[in-house]
Amino acid sequence: MATKTATKLVKEIRVDISKCTGCRACEMACSAYHAKPRYSSINPARSRIRVVSSEHNDEYVPIRSTDYTPSECNGRRTYVIEGKEYSDCSFCGSPCPSRDLFFEPDSGLPLKCDMCESIPEIIPMCVQACGESALTYHKYDVMVDAKDQERRGGIEIGLENLVNQYGVDAILEGLKRMQK
Ligand code: SF4
Ligand code: SF4
Repeated sequence: MATKTATKLVKEIRVDISKCTGCRACEMACSAYHAKPRYSSINPARSRIRVVSSEHNDEYVPIRSTDYTPSECNGRRTYVIEGKEYSDCSFCGSPCPSRDLFFEPDSGLPLKCDMCESIPEIIPMCVQACGESALTYHKYDVMVDAKDQERRGGIEIGLENLVNQYGVDAILEGLKRMQK
C-alpha cells in the first residue's frame, strides 16, 4: 500500500561565510530581541548567534546556538576552505564545557536559537540586521509521511495553545527547567 504523504513547512537560516565581515550586528539584534523587557538591553553575551572569529586570518563564522551537550567531543578535525583553516568548533553551535559561548551570563543556563518564533511571525532578527546578506532566511515545503505529520500536528496545536495562553518566553523557560 502506498504511503500517504503531506507537506511540512521548513524554516532555515543559511550562512555564507564568505560575506560575513564580523560586524556582530546579528549578535546585538538577537540579544536585544531576547532581552526582558524586549529591546531593553544589548549584550552579545546573551545572543543566540555568535561570530566565531580569527581576525588575523580574516575568518568570521556566524553560528546559531543549538542543543546543550554536557561533554566535550574528542577528535576535532580541521578544514581548509578557500585557503583558510577552520576547526570543527568553528561550525559547532552546541553550548559545551570547552568554551564560554551560548551560556546565559547570569543564570549559566544554555541558550538555544528559537528562530525568533513569535506571533505574528517575523523574519529572524539576525537576518534583518545583517547588511551583508551573509545570513538569509528560507521557507519551503518538504514531503513527509502523513501519519507522522498528523501526530506532530497534534503536538504543535497543543504547543500553540500553550504559547497563546502563557507566551513563548514562559514556555521556553519551562522547557529549559524540565531539561535540567
Ligand atoms: S533566529 Fe532569532 S533567536 Fe536565532 S540567532 Fe537569529 S536572532 Fe537569535
Ligand atoms: S551581521 Fe552579518 S556580516 Fe555582521 S557579523 Fe553577523 S553575519 Fe557577519
